[in-house]
Amino acid sequence: MYKRVVVKIGTSVLTGGTPRLDRAHMVELVRQCARACSDHEMIICSSGAIAAGRENLGFPDLPATVTTKQLLAAVGQTRLIRAWENFFRIYDIHVGQVLLTRADVHDRNRFLNARDTLAAMIEHNIIPIVNENDAVATAEIRVGDNDNLSALLVALTEADLLVMLTDQAGLYTADPRTNPEAELIQEVDVIDDNLHTLAGGSVTGLGVGGMTTKLQAADIARRSGADVVIASGTTPDVIIRILAGEPVGTRFPALKTPLERRKRWILAGAKPNGTIAIDKTAVESLHSNGGNLLPSSIVRVDGHFQRGDTVTVSDENGFTLGRGVSSYDAAELNRIMGRPSDEISTMLGYTYGTAAIHRDDLVLLGEN
Ligand code: GLU
Repeated sequence: MYKRVVVKIGTSVLTGGTPRLDRAHMVELVRQCARACSDHEMIICSSGAIAAGRENLGFPDLPATVTTKQLLAAVGQTRLIRAWENFFRIYDIHVGQVLLTRADVHDRNRFLNARDTLAAMIEHNIIPIVNENDAVATAEIRVGDNDNLSALLVALTEADLLVMLTDQAGLYTADPRTNPEAELIQEVDVIDDNLHTLAGGSVTGLGVGGMTTKLQAADIARRSGADVVIASGTTPDVIIRILAGEPVGTRFPALKTPLERRKRWILAGAKPNGTIAIDKTAVESLHSNGGNLLPSSIVRVDGHFQRGDTVTVSDENGFTLGRGVSSYDAAELNRIMGRPSDEISTMLGYTYGTAAIHRDDLVLLGEN
């Protein structure tokens, strides 16, 4: 049985595809969560701030800028949380609002602080209702979509189930709106390029993320040790049925050997500040033998990252292989790339070790 569950509720579910919050449906979801609460610890990742802001201001005609989104979120988030609070009060359940941006978890210590706050709330039977802090989030510090935020919550709370509720019944073999042959995929064991292509075409109503970001998030969450289910938020008793193990929506079982905790943070928390591209031989050898990523295998360094920053690791063509924490800053790597590690101290006058990224700081995505 699942112990700790993150339920991600998208804007399309909260509004039922209309421009307004569908309060009756919110009450229905609260009823299900309240029932689930007796056996499971629940965390809610709720979108809808921007939609609620628009509704509250009477759908003003504002320019489509970041500032507009920020002000709409500032107005809407208070309405949204008040609605959740009122509905959970019917069941005598306390909720607390947690607003995060990438900046709050980028650094490992801040990640641990956020984790402690959530753990304390859960311990005191307070349901965390989490959203991105859209009112202050700018391009540099935002997570960007609540699918990825919900995966981050799995890493933060060590949840063992992530339920992503959306306006589609799950992932299909083709676009169900245009292809009558499209079938719901019930279980996904490997998230590969084919699946990403399949998901690529789909969009959901008012929300930010489509199926592509859902797959990204599912990939991160299952590497953190959680089963993931993508399902329709309007399927009757959807949360209760998923918790009972019924085949609802598309399920992605957790990896059998989930990443250790620090690696979960590398994958879900920190935002990459640059990219290190490595040669073909290194790609093969990292996949088959593990090991450190050495300066000699680096063919390109992009971005202005510092030592200790997270970077994306890609192949020569820019295809993302994973993420890691760099032992050297970008300028240093630009000097020592392609060189054997025993030349590092002569070239730089100092050394932080033979690896550009130590294997303990490296997470490769292709491995299932
Ligand atoms: N944080 C946004 C909001 O509350 C939603 C982002 C998303 O749906 O992915 O409006």
